[in-house]
Amino acid sequence: MKDYYQILGVRRDASAGEIKKAYRKLAKRYHPDSHQEDEQAKQRFQEISEAYKVLGDEKARKQYNAWGHETYTAQARHTTRQEGEDGHCGACQNRNPRPKEEGPPPASIRTAVHMSFEEVLTGATKTIKAKDPIPCPHCEKSRENAGATCPYCHGTGIWEKPREALVHIPARTYDGCFYHLEDVLDKGEKAFSRKNLVVVVLVDDQPGYIRQDYHLYSTMEISYPEMVLGGEIQIPTIEGDVRYVLAPGTSNGARIRLPGKGLWMPPKVGNRGDQYVTLQVAIPKQLTKEQQEALRQFQKLLKNG
Ligand SMILES: [Zn+2]
Repeated sequence: MKDYYQILGVRRDASAGEIKKAYRKLAKRYHPDSHQEDEQAKQRFQEISEAYKVLGDEKARKQYNAWGHETYTAQARHTTRQEGEDGHCGACQNRNPRPKEEGPPPASIRTAVHMSFEEVLTGATKTIKAKDPIPCPHCEKSRENAGATCPYCHGTGIWEKPREALVHIPARTYDGCFYHLEDVLDKGEKAFSRKNLVVVVLVDDQPGYIRQDYHLYSTMEISYPEMVLGGEIQIPTIEGDVRYVLAPGTSNGARIRLPGKGLWMPPKVGNRGDQYVTLQVAIPKQLTKEQQEALRQFQKLLKNG
């Protein structure tokens, strides 16, 4: 994955002027006005604009450098999603107006953990990466490296040492939830000397489910006889199959609501979201002679009935 510096083709320590110049050059080359039909150019232009929006803004660039590409872009997506919904939940018909969640303290340094739907329910042990400042050992060891030429501390005497650590994210967490690192750090880990580190939870999408807020949407195929006759079916959820009794004469496209089978909401908002399952009639592609015969028989009976 390319980061914003690579997209603009500038070095990480490029000046604001250099970034602006690089952006202008690329924007001119890939501008949609001169590439009407070229999808690739359009995409490239979008990337360039997105990169400049961040690197061209001193405050945003600082934050981007501190969080890294992945955390920064994921957080930006999260924030946009929240703001776009004007605090209301589409699936609940605004029954749960959503209070503005408090974000992590602005001065905090964030690091992200990715969690699956299942891990959100059970909690999980994760590895985080963060930079922890220590007195620069490279300067101390070698006199030649001392001062502004030290590639580790650039003469500050403090090295932002990259470090990994185990954290325990508790059950019942949610997308965008944050924890102070010291609260979730594994007992066996040495404390970080930096005190404003925050761990942000990013819940990954999962194949088979579409997410809206804390509700999940899925589709399930059901045989025609089951739709007609009704009866017990097993519906997959993020915590295993659940039993459901289908009413006789269920229509194709019917939607079942499984209350509380979605994702956890922030405590201020409520408990758990719901799962909505759309039922589709499965049309068999291959039938045995016997099955075909039975179906013809059924067709005949339908016509006569
Ligand atoms: Zn140094």
